[in-house]
This record gives sequence, structure tokens and C-alpha cells, in this order.
Amino acid sequence: MVLPDGIVRADISIRDGRIAALTDDRDSPASQEEIDATGRIVLPGLIDPHVHMREPGAEEREDWQTGTAAAAAGGVTTVLEMPVSVPPTSTVDAFQIKRRIAEQKAVVDFGLYGGAGITNLEQIPRLAEAGAVAFKTFLHEPYPDRVAEFQGIYATDDGALLDIFRAVERTGLVQCVHAENNGIIEHRTRQLRAAGQVGPRAHGESRPVIAEVEAVSRTMLLAAEAGVRLNLCHVSSASAVEVAEEYRRRRRARVTIETCPQYLLLNEEDVVRLGPYAKISPPIRSEPERARLWGLFAAGVVDTIGTDHAPHVRAAKERGWADIFEAPAGAPGLETMLPLLLTRVAEGALTLEALANVASARAARLFGLHPRKGGIRVGADADLVVVDLERTQTLDSARMYTKQREAAKLFHGRKVQGVPVMTLVRGQVVMRDGEVVGAPGHGRLVRPIVPGAPRKEAGHE
Ligand code: ZN
Ligand code: ZN
Repeated sequence: MVLPDGIVRADISIRDGRIAALTDDRDSPASQEEIDATGRIVLPGLIDPHVHMREPGAEEREDWQTGTAAAAAGGVTTVLEMPVSVPPTSTVDAFQIKRRIAEQKAVVDFGLYGGAGITNLEQIPRLAEAGAVAFKTFLHEPYPDRVAEFQGIYATDDGALLDIFRAVERTGLVQCVHAENNGIIEHRTRQLRAAGQVGPRAHGESRPVIAEVEAVSRTMLLAAEAGVRLNLCHVSSASAVEVAEEYRRRRRARVTIETCPQYLLLNEEDVVRLGPYAKISPPIRSEPERARLWGLFAAGVVDTIGTDHAPHVRAAKERGWADIFEAPAGAPGLETMLPLLLTRVAEGALTLEALANVASARAARLFGLHPRKGGIRVGADADLVVVDLERTQTLDSARMYTKQREAAKLFHGRKVQGVPVMTLVRGQVVMRDGEVVGAPGHGRLVRPIVPGAPRKEAGHE
């Protein structure tokens, strides 16, 4: 098993959903039930800090049951869910609506982001009180057909953004941003459309690396001014990571960086091949950007990895073949992240310790879920994923649990080595041999420990 300080061979005793003891095989206490993981590796369950479950409001794309079943299948034991929904999670009422749905349907544990925008400033402290795990703000305008989903969670105006950051700073929670420069995107999109350039590559051309680099830079300056802890969501380019790393090192700024498997493992050639199915925002980059991003990731510069699981129905995606700007951005990812990362382990490009760190431990610390989540240690929730490092398979979207199997093409057909074979959430087996066996309603809301706030133990209610 991969412990916070190294790999050991041992037994895990679980009582009441928590890790009760880590012992040498010979002196483990007798148990009611035993799981034999001989020859396998046990990792802390993955914490995915970036998913979109689509419910309430767009259940034709995904819902809390199918989405968290996908998580369980992929070895993800806690999902942190973004506020894009109808209603968006930018009010306490909307937060409670979403929470009730998730409590009935979720197979794995979940945290809920609050949306932070200029129109809901007074809701920000109340969302924190209600248990929001962090706040999310988009810096670009909503897509014209999705305005209802983004209401109250974006700011294209720097003055407004500063007010939002100050309000979030007072809660002690992390401010997450989708950082792309709105002006550059709109200007380039108009130019490309006017020139009839609407093929798959045009999406990336409308959102060039500089749009991300500029927004990351500006957001870091404004966050420092407000004193808020800043987390940069789904950073897609090495250039933006380098700017963020240089700034935080020089200024000792409280900035963290998230990236996603699609930016580490795919490039523009995949975009041409997959068309609208590879349309995501920020876009998948050139091979030189991808290769440098992998280098930074392997060197530990990136703090967390999330899937940005964001399903859309196939018919909507298909519209993008004629005009890429007509397709929505986003793709499923919960079931492929762990096998993809394990494959890099098998290839010698990543250690198991680094994988556990970036995909679980650091997210737990960042979002105030440590020490209940994010590591195999006595007292922690028994959130575990058992993996078979020897087993190879071909990723097949037809066998996935996401509602959008037909749109899950990013990694379809890719050979992987290293497969999750069992997932436990608080001691309950929720996936066995690829089959999700967890009951809807097992998942619970996770609440963060807020730094500086005199608060009881992090965890569930
Ligand atoms: Zn985003
Ligand atoms: Zn997202």
C-alpha cells in the first residue's frame, strides 16, 4: 500500500468506516470480513477536485447517480462538484437543493463548490456557512445557450473580481478560477468565424495560450491584493504553469495549480481526429506545450489533477463537425484518469507515491479535508482503491458508467496498463472487478476545515 511516507506491505483494519490499524500481516486482528489484495497495490482513494455532475438542470447529460458511479469505477472516492447547474450553486437555497439530490444519489463522497460572482456577494459567507468546499468563478462570459447555468458565477470585470476575491477571503476558503481572457477569446472567435475557419482546430485558435497566461497572471495579482488563497483550475499550458510557478516562488503567493489528464496526454492532432469530442475549455494544446506540461507535472510543480468531467450529449457534440463553435465544450473523464496515470507509472514516468500525492493527498490538504481524506493513515476514512498494476486493457467507452458513453471518446481505444479493481468509500466496497456495487445514497457531503477558524473535525455531518 502507498502510505504518505512510502510503500509498505501491510494489512489495513477497518472499523466503522475508518482505518483502525495498519499492521504487519502476521498480527492482524481477526475480522468479520477479509479482502485479499495479495499482489495488488492499495492507494488512497482519489479526490477529484473538478467534476460537473449536471444535476439539477441538465440530467440528460449526467446525474449524481451515474456520475458518481463513474467515479467509483475510476477509483475516485471523493468528488468536488462545480457550481454550474440550474440553478447554479450561487445561493444557499441552490446549495441545499443540490445537496439533497446528491445525498440521495451519490455512491461516493462529495464536496460542493459555491459559485462566486458580483451578483451574489452577500451569499458568499452564507454558502461557506452551509458547507461549501471552496468557491469558483469564471472569468469569461457564459456561452450564449448556457446563460442559466452560469448565472452568478462569472466576472469579466476586474473591479468586480476584486470584490469577489475579498468576499471569499473573509470566508477562509479557497478561490478557484477558470482563467482565460474573455476579450481575447471573443475577438479571436469573431475573426475566425468571419473568415469561415470553423474546423476542429479553430477552437484552440480562438483560445490561444496567451489568453490563459494573461488571465493567470492578472488573477494572481488580484488574488494577492485581496489576500485570498487562489487555485487555478485546469491549467492547460506549460506556459501558464511556468508563469504561476515563477510568481508564487518569487512572491511566496498562496497559489495552487490544477491540471487534467487531457492536457498531459493529448495534443492538437487528437483534436483534429476527435473533432467536437475533444472540444474542451481551455483547449488541448500543441505537442511542445503538452510535453513541457508533462515535465512540470512529473517534477511536482502541479499541485492537483482533476478530470474536469463535463459530459454533453452526443447530438450536441455532433453539431461541431460542421462548425466547431456550435458544439459545447467538455468531456467525461472520471473513468479514465486512474488507468491513464497508472500507465505512466508502468512506463516509469511517474512513481506511485507521486500519483497518490497529486491525485489525493494534495487535494485533501488544499481543500481542508486532511486528515480525514487523502491518505492511508489510522483514523482516516477508509477510502481506498485497489489496483492491479500488471493488468492491461483497452479503454472502452461502451463499458463506462457515465451517461455519455457515446461522447466519451477522448481516450477510447487507448491501451492502458494498471487497472482499478476495487474501490472502497468509508469501508464500503462500491466497485468490485469493474462493477459498481455501491448503493446510491452512500455518499456524504464533506465539509472543509477552514484555516484559522475554531472548528471541529473535518468530515461529514
Ligand atoms: Zn472551467
Ligand atoms: Zn470545469
